[in-house]
Amino acid sequence: FFFFFFFFFPTFLPSQFSRTLPLTGIPLAATVAFSLSDLSRCSHSLTLDLAAMATSAFGTTTATSNYRNGGAANARNLPKNSSVKSKTGVRKSAPGSLGGGGAASSSSKDDAGVPGRVRVAVRLRPRNAEEMVADADFADCVELQPELKRLKLRKNNWDSDTYEFDEVLTEFASQKRVYEVVAKPVVESVLDGYNGTVMAYGQTGTGKTYTVGQLGDEDMAARGIMVRAMEDILAGVSLESDSISVSYMQLYMETIQDLLDPTNDNISIVEDHKTGDVSLPGATQVEIRDHHSFLEILKLGEDHRFAANTKLNTESSRSHAILMVNLRRSVKGKDSAVSSENSSSLQTVKSLKPSVVRKAKLVVVDLAGSERIHKSGSEGHTLEEAKSINLSLSALGKCINALAENSPHIPVRDSKLTRLLRDSFGGTARTSLVITVGPSPRHRGETASTIMFGQRAMKVENMLKLKEEFDYKSLSRRLDIQLDKLIAEHERQQKIFEDEIERLTAEAERQLSDAERNYVQALEKERSKYQKEYLESIKKLEEKWTMNQRKSVNDENKLRHKDVGSNVLPNAKESKVAPIEENPEMKKLLEKETAHRKAVEEEVWTLKTQLAESRRSEALQSSEIVKLRKMLDDEAHQKEKLEMEIGKLQSHLLQLSVEADETRRQLDSGGSEEVLSGLDSLLHQSRQPQSDNSETGDKESVAKLFEQVGLHKILSLLEAEDADVRIHAVKVVANLAAEDGALPWIVQNANNEAASVRRHIELALCHLAQHEANARDMINGGAVWEMVRISRDCPREDIRSLAHRTLTSSHSFQAEMRRLG
Ligand code: ADP
Ligand code: MG
Repeated sequence: FFFFFFFFFPTFLPSQFSRTLPLTGIPLAATVAFSLSDLSRCSHSLTLDLAAMATSAFGTTTATSNYRNGGAANARNLPKNSSVKSKTGVRKSAPGSLGGGGAASSSSKDDAGVPGRVRVAVRLRPRNAEEMVADADFADCVELQPELKRLKLRKNNWDSDTYEFDEVLTEFASQKRVYEVVAKPVVESVLDGYNGTVMAYGQTGTGKTYTVGQLGDEDMAARGIMVRAMEDILAGVSLESDSISVSYMQLYMETIQDLLDPTNDNISIVEDHKTGDVSLPGATQVEIRDHHSFLEILKLGEDHRFAANTKLNTESSRSHAILMVNLRRSVKGKDSAVSSENSSSLQTVKSLKPSVVRKAKLVVVDLAGSERIHKSGSEGHTLEEAKSINLSLSALGKCINALAENSPHIPVRDSKLTRLLRDSFGGTARTSLVITVGPSPRHRGETASTIMFGQRAMKVENMLKLKEEFDYKSLSRRLDIQLDKLIAEHERQQKIFEDEIERLTAEAERQLSDAERNYVQALEKERSKYQKEYLESIKKLEEKWTMNQRKSVNDENKLRHKDVGSNVLPNAKESKVAPIEENPEMKKLLEKETAHRKAVEEEVWTLKTQLAESRRSEALQSSEIVKLRKMLDDEAHQKEKLEMEIGKLQSHLLQLSVEADETRRQLDSGGSEEVLSGLDSLLHQSRQPQSDNSETGDKESVAKLFEQVGLHKILSLLEAEDADVRIHAVKVVANLAAEDGALPWIVQNANNEAASVRRHIELALCHLAQHEANARDMINGGAVWEMVRISRDCPREDIRSLAHRTLTSSHSFQAEMRRLG
């Protein structure tokens, strides 16, 4: 929503360089106006007073050599012109080509940065005790001309090379002055939001660590650049809105070790390809709130560096110490352009504008000794190790050469150091380099190479860029707060609104009920008015009626009096004028007449209602009759139908009986049904003679039956599929059981047959035994024993209990059983 893309277009106003005297150390002041162009929707401009931003890193200039911010082209011309070899040994720079103002404005139009050449100072270490003795008879190999910013490197007694630097610091230069000249402008730049680098380069023992890392515990005056830089930073920020954090690393053999956490010994470099930012997210970052804590950090780092180097059996001179100070500052007062607009909507826009934060990084590097490792293993390392040890430093040299020569390819990626310092050389940082040299002629070669490194570094042109970004985080926080406020306000308004609605509703209800009440009252009034009027009119009508009545009575009287004669006349005359009330007889008569009429009327009414009643009941009855008649019709119809059915059934019956006769006739020709009907007829025949009481005949008939049909056949019919056949067979068996001749056979077979047949025989026995008349025969035939057996052993419970019941209920059986014991 509010992503504004700002591009930074520096516009140089005519630069006003205020010159100071050489060596005073007071930086030049330059006022530079930048126009901040918004390429997005919201467009506004911003004026930055970046005083001192474009000043020379070393803050001083002389009439003869103006090493101010120069155009890239001019800067590149510098070395060619600055070192002019001559017999007199003076290398003179060409002031015209180095002139600051014009160069600055020339590059202002289309470049997103302030040109800022790498500034190089040279510092000479005083002779140490050893050199005092060893070099006692020799002159120093370097001679400094600080006021001319020149260094003479003696070649021999009569010849020397002269080099110009941005600053020349003699053996007497104080730490304070070194800081102010070398580092202070960079630190100020960092406070303004630019990246900055301060680096010490030189042979081991020439004072790099002294210059950069001296803590100054014992001697405050000896405090080095790191300590003093932090003092200035702490003094320059407000810790409420700004934050400082530091990391401290050592780079040795292409490995970055955390000096604040020795276990963290392989930190990787992360490059943001969009912004070109280089960071070490793996390194410990310590927030700095005061100077003391920073000193503790430095000490801790130093201890760890010492311990790490002892463990690795290396010298600290072989590793690079890197201090990174990350500064984050919020920029205020940039909304003035917008807030001047007197509009509420713009006020809102303003409040929605994120504040600007500047992120700057100060890198202070104490490089490894620049001397070459001459022989492999000279310091206990193999050649490969020696290469690796020097890789970063030689890569730095190559990069600086490439940059100095304006080469299209800068081998930044060749080493970790060059990757880390990509912004410091040829990047956007303000960079200051201090090269340290010793005075001893014995190290003339190393000194010369150090000087050459410094000379080349002076040609490196950086483009300083402000690292500003919008602080969306705090904007978001601010918006959250505003949103909360708005929500609260909205809720408040809502509440007021609801209250108002409630009030209005109550008011309206009240008015409504008032109106209703008024209406009811008015209605009531109107009603009573009309009622009154109505009553009055009734009364009037009544009066009229009475009058009419009276009139008619008078007329009648008059008529009557005319008929009666003249003697009645006075009476009639009297009655003509007298009202009904005054004639009680008439009144009575009238009343009587009225009562009579009323009675008659009542009578008529009663009769009428009775008539209506009777008519209604008549209608009811007639409908009832219709209904009943219909029912009668239905019944008759039903009866007809049933009679027809009966006729049909009778003819069917007739047919059936004919068929039955037919069937009976076919009995002998086989089939179970025929067998059964045959049995029936046989039984019938056998029973016919039984009535004659001929015992032999009976027995013969049964025997004959058995012979004719066979018991097996009969019994098998008990299992027939057809239910009718089964029932028939049972009947036959039961009948057979009742036959005298069958008993012995049954007794004999009661225990012999298959289970299915046996239960029928058992049942038959039980049935026989139930008739007391059979008891004697059964006892004689030995059936008692069978019955006992059945009552005990029969697998069928019902037959068993039937047998038991039969035995116990029969006296004959009981007696027989007792007799048999
Ligand atoms: P490097 O870090 O370059 O190897 P050092 O900073 O360790 O060199 O210096 C070596 C020695 O010289 C140290 O004892 C240091 O105190 C001393 N020294 C260096 N520069 C100066 C100076 N400008 N004034 C006094 N002593 C110095
Ligand atoms: Mg050192």
